[in-house]
Parts: sequence; C-alpha cells; structure tokens
Amino acid sequence: MPDSTPAIEVRDIVKSFGEFRAIDNVSLTIESGVFITLLGPSGCGKSTLLRTIAGFLTPDSGAVIVGGRDVTALPPHIRPVNMVFQDYALFPHMSVRRNVGFGCEMKGMTKSDIEARVDAMLELIRLPDVGDREPGALSGGQRQRVALARALAPDPVSLLLDEPLGALDLKLRLELQHELKSIQRTTGKTFVFVTHDQDEAMSMSDLVAVMKDGRIEQLDTPRAIYARPATAFVAGFVGAANMLSGRVVGTDGAALRLEVEGLHWSVPADAVTGGRTVATGDAVTLVIRPEDVIVGPAPGRGELVLPARARTQTFLGGRVHLRCETAAGTALTLEVRPGSVPEGDGAIDLHVAPDAVAILANDKGHS
Ligand code: ATP
Repeated sequence: MPDSTPAIEVRDIVKSFGEFRAIDNVSLTIESGVFITLLGPSGCGKSTLLRTIAGFLTPDSGAVIVGGRDVTALPPHIRPVNMVFQDYALFPHMSVRRNVGFGCEMKGMTKSDIEARVDAMLELIRLPDVGDREPGALSGGQRQRVALARALAPDPVSLLLDEPLGALDLKLRLELQHELKSIQRTTGKTFVFVTHDQDEAMSMSDLVAVMKDGRIEQLDTPRAIYARPATAFVAGFVGAANMLSGRVVGTDGAALRLEVEGLHWSVPADAVTGGRTVATGDAVTLVIRPEDVIVGPAPGRGELVLPARARTQTFLGGRVHLRCETAAGTALTLEVRPGSVPEGDGAIDLHVAPDAVAILANDKGHS
C-alpha cells in the first residue's frame, strides 16, 4: 500500500436502528499511522461508527474503504482491521500464547511464523513470561495488554479500540494510556480509539473527532479542539468554557471589532472558528477558557478588560476555582492562583489576551 493511501475512509455513512438515526451521514478520512479518537457523550454514535468500520454492523448507505479497498460488503473476519473491546474478549480456556496467535492461525500462517510473531507481541506488551497462563490468571491490565497483542498479531491495517480502558481503575488506566500510545508509535499502526473521556482523548490522540447526535462536530488536533472549538457543544464538552454573547460592530482586515456586554473589544479576525466568516451585525459567542483570564489591577498591553464581581472560591490545592459574575449577569468560572483574589464579594477586573478568545459564529435565527 503506498503511503498516501488513507488507512480508512468512511464515506457518507448512514446507520439507523428502526426510526432512530445513530449515524447521520458521516464521512471521515483517516491517514495511515494516525492515532485518532472518536470522542463524545454516551449515545452519540461512537461505537456504532466503529462497529460499522469493523463490519459488525452494515450501514444503510455509504461505504467503508480500508487500505484503498471497499470492504462495505465484507464480513468482519475478512477485513484488515481488528477490534479491541472493553471486556477483553479473550478465550478463557486457551493459553495467552494461543490467544495471541489465534488470528495468525486463522490467517494460515506457519507454526514457526506464529511462534515468532507471538514472542514479538508478548515482548511488545512487556509480558514475555505469561504465555503459558490462561487469561483468568492475569490482572485486568495484563488481560487488556494481551487483548491488544492478540489484535495486533495478524498485522491488521488498523486497530479499532472501543473504550479499551473503561474497565480499569484510574491509576491503571493512566498507565495503560501511556503504554497504548507508545505501542501505537512503535508499531506505526493506525489506531481508531473510542472514549467518552475528554482527558484520555486529549492526551493520547493525534486527531480527535468530536461526535454529537450521530455526526462529527469537529475533527482536529487536540490543541485546536481546545483552543479553537468549532461549536458551543465542542467548547463545552472538551474542557470548561466560559461563554459570552457579543455582536460584530466592524471588521477591518486582521481585526474584528465586537460589542460585548456594552464594552468594545477588538480581537484577531482569525479568532472565528469552524471555517465560518462573520459580518457586521452578526451575533457571536465568545469562548474563554478558565485559565486564560487574569484577575488584576492593571491589564497588560492590548488586553481585553471585563469588570465583574467575585462570588465564591473553591480551593483545589495548586489552583482555585473562582466563580464570578459580569455586570450583565453572566456567570463565569475562572482558574486562578491561590491567594490572588481577595475572598468575598468584591469588584474585580478580568483581563484576557485577545488571541485567547475563540469566536463562534451564531447560526442565523439563534442570534
Ligand atoms: P456509549 O459511550 O454509551 O457506548 P456511543 O456513543 O458509543 O455511546 P452507540 O453505542 O454508538 O453510542 O449508540 C448510539 C445510539 O444508537 C444510542 O442511542 C443507542 O441506544 C442506539 N443503538 C446502538 N445499537 C443499537 C441497536 N443494536 N439497536 C437499537 N439501538 C441501538
């Protein structure tokens, strides 16, 4: 397969269960060697999309292309992809070695090739000594690593991982996040990972597809998803977001002039996200992350200033969540250093760098 062939292409997939449309016309191109995560709340269609790629579900319409080949009509075991499930799905009465070698056996590889492949896989997951055990004699984390080795052994184009760390406790989960990411880098395989955990998605992925109601709301790098969310849903789902309503009062080349709660602000024109454009008179939503606000007596040069009233503070160790309210009554939650804001209901000035603001173009009719 030439490098330029995408590992997976999903074209115009629609999948309904009865009247309910679980996947609503999704298209997605995944380049080879990428770690991509489908992220979204429960029921948004992540698993349905993954299972459609794997071949466990047949789409109502659309196509699934793997390694340049249309596999839409092929059953799962013929497709050059393998799935890893949350509940491991290992064969309980087979040794770890047989589990890991199972896909290779199915492919008709020779005994000695299978042995060599199993050894390499057990090295890769750093469990070279558990080959003769049965899965029941392993810890949850070890079982999931064996499941990963089993899925990788037949050398698929891509691994499809459906909440593979969901059954593990937090400490183990963090450990396996690192391990999974490192195995993905070492093998150079394309990983399509499903989770509803934003931190997991942000820390592991090259790309994140944020899903809602059977559609992809935004496909971007974790950094861009966080700093330049394309929609209010993405802004609110990935990290904490403060939102202010504003209106465009002028545009002049590189700058956008806004009226926000009676104040006049100027932000870079490229602060508008989601490939949208705005014109004078348009209603917009400003997204400001809690850690991008400084509470202080004097703003830095060019900083936007928003007068507010402090309400409550929640001490979290190295940082404090400060709840406050603008003069127009918008509630904001900020993240500040302990001791940087006096306790109590005082008037404060909030300062924000103009390039820390993301601007969402409101849909017409919702302004
Ligand atoms: P979760 O994180 O809870 O697993 P998800 O984003 O993976 O959520 P899906 O499992 O893809 O969501 O389900 C999407 C929607 O389709 C849900 O409303 C679900 O109830 C519905 N659904 C999924 N499978 C079936 C099925 N076999 N029959 C009927 N409805 C289904």
